[in-house]
Amino acid sequence: MSSETLEFQAETRQLLQLMVHSIYSNKDIFLRELISNASDALDKLRLQSLIDKELVADTDDLHISLAVSAEDRTLTVRDNGIGMSRDEVVELIGTIAKSGTAELLRKMRESKDAAAKQELIGQFGVGFYSTFMVADKVTLVTRRAGETGGTRWESTGEGTYQIEAVDDAPQGTSVTLHLKPEDAEDQLHDYSAEWKIREIVKRYSDFIAWPIRLDGSEAPLNSMKALWARPRSEVSDEEYHEFYKHVSHDWTDPLETIHMKAEGTFEYEALLFIPSRAPFDLYMRDGKRGVQLYVKRVFIMDDCEALTPQYLRFVKGVVDAHDLSLNISREILQQDRQIQVVRRRLVKKVLSTLSELREKDAEKYRGFWDEFGRALKEGLLDDTDNRDTLLDLLLLPSTASSELTTLRDYVSRMKEDQKDIYYMTGESRAMVEHSPHMEAFLAKGYEVLILTDPVDEVWVERITEFDGKPLQSIAKGQVDLGASETAPEQREEFAPLLTWLGEKLQEDVKEVRLSSRLTTSAACIVGDAHDITPTLEKMYRAMGQ
Ligand code: ADP
Ligand code: MG
Repeated sequence: MSSETLEFQAETRQLLQLMVHSIYSNKDIFLRELISNASDALDKLRLQSLIDKELVADTDDLHISLAVSAEDRTLTVRDNGIGMSRDEVVELIGTIAKSGTAELLRKMRESKDAAAKQELIGQFGVGFYSTFMVADKVTLVTRRAGETGGTRWESTGEGTYQIEAVDDAPQGTSVTLHLKPEDAEDQLHDYSAEWKIREIVKRYSDFIAWPIRLDGSEAPLNSMKALWARPRSEVSDEEYHEFYKHVSHDWTDPLETIHMKAEGTFEYEALLFIPSRAPFDLYMRDGKRGVQLYVKRVFIMDDCEALTPQYLRFVKGVVDAHDLSLNISREILQQDRQIQVVRRRLVKKVLSTLSELREKDAEKYRGFWDEFGRALKEGLLDDTDNRDTLLDLLLLPSTASSELTTLRDYVSRMKEDQKDIYYMTGESRAMVEHSPHMEAFLAKGYEVLILTDPVDEVWVERITEFDGKPLQSIAKGQVDLGASETAPEQREEFAPLLTWLGEKLQEDVKEVRLSSRLTTSAACIVGDAHDITPTLEKMYRAMGQ
C-alpha cells in the first residue's frame, strides 16, 4: 500500500515546534515518556487477554526492549503490548487529545521568560512528542494485538507525517529515534550510548513492572518492584516522584505523597499523590479524574471514578485491591461495598494529610489552596461526612487583611458582641468592598468574609454555621448590628418619604425600609433572606436556567 502524507492538527504542530526547538532543559525524560507508554501498552494487553479469551495475542514474554546504534545514531524502544490500529495512530499520535492545549500555547506565547515556558511544558507533559527534543526524525511501527496488518508512521516533527500499512510488523509498538546530530559530540546527551540508557532507566523507570532489557541481553535494567508494595522506609522520595510522573503524566514533582496499606478482611495498598499544579482541565466538564486500579499487581483501569469523589479529582496514584475480580466493570465498582469502604478511607486520609500540611507548613498549604481550593469547596456541597474537616481547610479572603483566613481564625477575631460570621458574595473583592452593604460593618469594625468564587454562592446556601456561629450574608435580610436601632421619632419623620418611595418603586422592590446599616450612602438594595444573590442569578442565567 502507498504511503500517505497527513498534516498534524494545528495545535499539535505548534507544540511540536516548541519541542523541536527544545526549550526543556532535561531532555533525558523523553525516554521515561516512551517507557511509560510501553508499560501502559503491556498493562492493557495483559488485562485484555485475561478478559477476552478469544484474543489471539502473544503474552508469553511481555517486556520492553531498548536498542542503540552508535553508528546509525538511533535509539529504538520496543514493546510487545497492545499496539495501535491505523486509526488509533492517527488519532493518538497525530493529534493532541488533551484539553487545554490551546490554553497552554496561548500562555507560552505570552510568556517571554524561558524558565516560565519550561514550567508550562512540564506542567502539561507532552508524552510522545518529547522525542522531538532529541530526534530529528521519529519512526513508529505498530500492530494491534489480534490484528494482522501493521502501520508505519514517520515524521520530522515539522507539520506533517507519513503513514503507511506494513505487513510484517510484530505485535506491539516500536519507536525509533533518529538522534539529532548536534548531540553526538555531547557525552551528556548521547542517547546512542548504552551507559547513558542504563543510567536513565535506573533513574526514571526503575519501578516499571515489566522487564526493560537492552537488546541482546536477558537481564532487566530495572528492579521491577511495584512501588506501592514496598515498605515506605525503603522507597526514596525520588522514586516516589518518578512513579508519580508515570501515573499522572505530569512532569512536575508532586506536593504530597500518601502511602497506605490495609490488612484484614479487605486488603489493599494505595499510593496517592497530591500534585503541585492543577492540570489545565481541572474545571472542565470532560476532565479526567481518579486513580488507577490494580488487582494483585494487574492493571485494571485508569481514571477509576469509584475510588475518589469528584471534588478530589486532582488526586493521582494507584490503588491495588487484592480481592476483586479482574473483569470488574465500572458500574459494578460503583456499587461495591468494599470499594465504598476503601473510598471513604482514602478521602479521610487525603483530608487529614491536607489538614496536617495546613498546620505544619502554611506556605505550602497556601500553594495547594491556590491550585485546588476551588475544587475542595465543591466538597462542601456533597461530602456531608467530612463537612467539618473541609470547613477547617477553607482559606478565605476577608476585610481583616489582604491575607486569606481560616474560619477558625475569623472566629477568634470576632468582636465580643458579634454572634454571626459575616460574609458577602460578589464578583470581585473590589466590588464587595465598595458595596453600600459593607459601610456599617466596616464603620463598626466587624470583619466580613469576601467570597468571590462562583462556587461560594452555592456552598454558603448549604452551610448554615461554623463552630456554632451562624453564617450570615450582610446583603440579605435584616442584619442586626446591635445598638443602633432606628429611633421611633426617626421612623415617624421618614414615614412619608418611605411611603412615597414605596409607591414610586412598587414595580421594582418589595418594601422600602429605614435602615441603620448605611453610613455614607443614601440607600441600598437588600435581598430577602431567601432570595438568590445577584452573582448566583447571573450564574444560573449563564447556565441557561
Ligand atoms: P499519554 O501517555 O499522556 O496519553 P502520550 O503522548 O505519551 O500521551 O501518548 C499518546 C497516546 O498514544 C497514548 O495515550 C496511547 O494511547 C498511545 N501510545 C503511545 N505509545 C504507545 C505504545 N507504545 N503502545 C500503544 N499505544 C501507545
Ligand atoms: Mg505517555
